[in-house]
Amino acid sequence: MRLRVEQDIFVARQLGREVARDVGLEQQDQTRLATALSEVSRVVLADGSDADVTFTVRPEGVRMALRVTVQQSSPGDGQLVRGDLAHVGRLVDKMEVESDETGTVVWMARRLPAGAPPLTPERMDEIRAGLSRHVPSSPIDELHVQNQQLIAALDEVRSQRDELARLNAELEETNRGVMALYHQLSEELEETNRGVVALYAELDDKSVQLAAASEAKSRFLANVSHELRAPVTAIIGLSRLLADDGSDPLTTDQERQVELIRGSASDLLTLVNDLLDLAKAEAGRIEPTLAEVDLRATFGQLRGTLRPLATRPEVEFRIDEPAVASIHSDEVLITRVLRNLLTNALKFTAEGEVRLTVREVGTDLEFIVSDTGTGISPELHERIFEEFYQVPGSKSLSGKGTGLGLPYARRLATILGGALRVDSTPGEGSTFTLRLPAS
Ligand code: ADP
Repeated sequence: MRLRVEQDIFVARQLGREVARDVGLEQQDQTRLATALSEVSRVVLADGSDADVTFTVRPEGVRMALRVTVQQSSPGDGQLVRGDLAHVGRLVDKMEVESDETGTVVWMARRLPAGAPPLTPERMDEIRAGLSRHVPSSPIDELHVQNQQLIAALDEVRSQRDELARLNAELEETNRGVMALYHQLSEELEETNRGVVALYAELDDKSVQLAAASEAKSRFLANVSHELRAPVTAIIGLSRLLADDGSDPLTTDQERQVELIRGSASDLLTLVNDLLDLAKAEAGRIEPTLAEVDLRATFGQLRGTLRPLATRPEVEFRIDEPAVASIHSDEVLITRVLRNLLTNALKFTAEGEVRLTVREVGTDLEFIVSDTGTGISPELHERIFEEFYQVPGSKSLSGKGTGLGLPYARRLATILGGALRVDSTPGEGSTFTLRLPAS
């Protein structure tokens, strides 16, 4: 269209808005572009020259853009136009003023939104036809439209300001909450820390007390058993003397009673000896003497000393040749543990077999004492290692026990740098495994 008189500024504005709407610009962008175009038209006309307004759609970067060109038909004051339009550039994405001796050209562009409908040649024809049918409205109507747009823009600004105020209030509220939570957590943490420190102090105290109690118990056991040993040995000796052929003859009743005294004193001596061993081990008074242990010889010795205990023909007592030749350890202590385990196995096995084997497991050796005896319920697997504990109702087939053998054996295993564990099923048998470092 051509700009000649002031009235045309309104028409340019209307056309600008319509084209912007037809190519898919959003409401606010339509107003921006129309306002920019009416400003440019006003400034160019004020410069005293007619001008042509052209609308084109062309790519601008990755998107399409609506470009509006206002071209003066005779030379004007380009500098003046440029100065007057500085503020208009803010309404569009791009605006440039080019001037030479033929006149000044102002062009501006606004990019179309990503979701704008595609501008096919048919659509472009439609838009062109629509514009050619355009009937300019009166300045009053245009003023009305502009007022409507202004009101809409002011409403929008107000609602944005309200939204901003609401968000700020919300943010402040959240901040207050976060700070309160932070303070609460800090206090709780401090409180917990104080509790943990106090707990540690108490724990330290308790472990010192525990160590002292354990030390006192061991000392007491050692003293008592040591003091008991001499009189008990004396009782055994005396009762032997009484029953001796060289002494005055006893009545049958007296003989039975003396035998009872001797039996009880023997049991007591076993108990006292076991207690003394355990007390020594617990007091850390057993120092292992490490040397190369010939397992073939150790196994041979065990076979020799324990064979007499394996009296039942229904039980096969097997100590095979060891699969490993030697171990760097304390022969006396190993023998004590294994003798203890084998004696137990023989005590609690009525038929089947009792067997000792050894095998290599990584850098360790495992001595396995297995039997097909009564077995032990899983819930008692740890209890049998407690002092004086004997499985209720378990019937030893030979000799009474003290309930001190296993705690002692486990203590020795620890002294040797190893461990003693049990695996057992009632009615099927038990397997005790002594694991020791090979060197
Ligand atoms: P005890 O002198 O009674 O044998 P131990 O400490 O050696 O004392 O064993 C504790 C208890 O563990 C035994 O009384 C017995 O009930 C149970 N026990 C130990 N070894 C075996 C085994 N091989 N088979 C079944 N029960 C066993």
